[in-house]
Amino acid sequence: MIDIEANLRAVRERILTAGKVYAGNPASLLAVSKGMSESAIRRAFSAGQFEFAESYVQDAIVKINATQDLPLVWHFIGPIQSNKTSAIAENFAWVHSIDRLKIAARLSAARPPLLGPLNVCIQFNSSGEASKSGVTHEQLGGLARDVAALPGLKLRGLMAIPAPAKNFDEQRRAFRIVREHFDALRSAGLQLDTLSMGMSDDLDAAIAEGATIVRVGTAIFGPRN
Ligand SMILES: *Cc1c(COP(=O)(O)O)cnc(C)c1O
Repeated sequence: MIDIEANLRAVRERILTAGKVYAGNPASLLAVSKGMSESAIRRAFSAGQFEFAESYVQDAIVKINATQDLPLVWHFIGPIQSNKTSAIAENFAWVHSIDRLKIAARLSAARPPLLGPLNVCIQFNSSGEASKSGVTHEQLGGLARDVAALPGLKLRGLMAIPAPAKNFDEQRRAFRIVREHFDALRSAGLQLDTLSMGMSDDLDAAIAEGATIVRVGTAIFGPRN
């Protein structure tokens, strides 16, 4: 049996330590519950976790509906298909995986005004891997300007999943590239406050480079099947 409470305590300790040692931002913890049960989510909530992330729309909506009694904040971090944009706009507070204007425009149009703008991050393919989702460095500035202008969305920053790296210094170099692009967008006048980067294996290096949100699944819930 996985001890979610102890795992959460250990992850929070890692976040605090990395924040102290590298004088980075105190990153907030997003618990990635994809593939996990409603009861696992309830256990994490009992241990003080409010923010959860999912990658598959249908699974997510079942869990969101089943936990309406809890004050949870839901983030979408997976690939987005056009026919799922309404479900995402209606059920989530955040989307981290924007990589096309067409999808962003659909999310904006489908966002119920009563919920206020949907918080979004653009997914940046910082390692330039052809197989990865996310925009290239050439596409980033133009997409950021276009997304920032959509009324139903609030562009908060960037999300990235750099290629796995061998050691801390290499991890850190990969995250630095993301942070430099984030800084450049801010210098260009966009009001961004969110760098969503770092997962179970590399959250410490991400915090060292200024991550404000780390997305952690395995280190909290154990391995996924
Ligand atoms: C699954 C996933 C995570 C969590 O990864 P772990 O290695 O289990 O911590 C984080 N971000 C995204 C986008 C994911 O798909």
